[in-house]
Amino acid sequence: MSSLRDNLRHMIALDGPMTVERYMDVCLRHYYASRDPLGAHGDFITSPEISQIFGELLGVWMIEIWHAMGRPGRVDLVELGPGRGTLMADMLRAARALPEFLEAAHVRLVETSPALRQKQKATLASSAATISWHDSFAELPEGQLLLVANEFFDALPVRQFVATERGWCERLVGLADDALIFGLNPEPESIAGAPPTPGEIREVHLASRSLAGDIAARLVRDGGAALIVDYGYWGPAYGDTLQAVRHHKFVDPLAEPGEADLTTHVDFSQLASAARARGAVLHGVDTQANFLHAIGIATRAARLKQRATDAQAKSLDEAVTRLTATGPREMGELFKVLAITDPRLASVPGLHARLEPNR
Ligand code: SAH
Repeated sequence: MSSLRDNLRHMIALDGPMTVERYMDVCLRHYYASRDPLGAHGDFITSPEISQIFGELLGVWMIEIWHAMGRPGRVDLVELGPGRGTLMADMLRAARALPEFLEAAHVRLVETSPALRQKQKATLASSAATISWHDSFAELPEGQLLLVANEFFDALPVRQFVATERGWCERLVGLADDALIFGLNPEPESIAGAPPTPGEIREVHLASRSLAGDIAARLVRDGGAALIVDYGYWGPAYGDTLQAVRHHKFVDPLAEPGEADLTTHVDFSQLASAARARGAVLHGVDTQANFLHAIGIATRAARLKQRATDAQAKSLDEAVTRLTATGPREMGELFKVLAITDPRLASVPGLHARLEPNR
């Protein structure tokens, strides 16, 4: 069987070293196409897989925005990269008490992986909502939009540039004795800012910027809001955040191409400036902990506990702690939340409008 590693070796032998962006793209296509990476037996776990409370709170957030939009009779409820469909199922459960919203919402799942589309179909089988699947955001029809993306942007490929005496040189993946290794394009390129101390790395999220810009343009034209949750930071910053995770452990990003989850930390400032350039309004960034507290995770947990067994109550408490724990390696602090809205939505629950310029 020809492995992805062999294919990559052939590609590099034929065309020369490839950019980190291309390497991520090739690996991630292979990775997501062939498996369900989520959960205890997979490679990583996400907030909606930890507890239903996460998706329910996001569902309530969407409903509040729908009210602020004037309760439109038709709205696209879009999720980018829905994984197993758990987040959408929990959001729809939170909306059960509001049939007008469920009537109005057309659920559109943007998912490239056939394996995960199957999972999503199974998870959402009992839902009364109209659901359709799409390959990309670009192919969605026009109309008012409520969009959610949890741990989606971290899976989009980035370009990496290394500061050298000559200027910013792009980081490449090449071959040495048949092994994949990192290298540098000898020709410098002019990207934003003068290069600092040699060796520093700047990550440029071109794919994410372009998508954030397209989402913003659509929100400004048709109305609505997008909620983006991911691990990341507000840049500019230096550093190599490319990481590979397999079976819940970090591995060398070049060691098992296509078999490990490859991600980078999202630079929300790059998404934000792309969105603002298209006329959208920004809310946040804030930490996941602050956001979930502000939209009432404690009250909702208390309500769920009233109907819970002791064991259920204990696991609910553990889940709330895990989602909101602060500390440099905890989800509540590592994960950030940004909303992008149509300027007609002056405020959103749980996040402050971002007034200052991006840079
Ligand atoms: N949001 C889910 C899953 C996150 S994993 C959760 O929180 O549990 C990333 C998801 O994005 C997977 O569903 C993966 O198949 C999908 N995905 C990755 N790259 C994609 C792309 N370029 N276009 C569409 N979906 C993509």
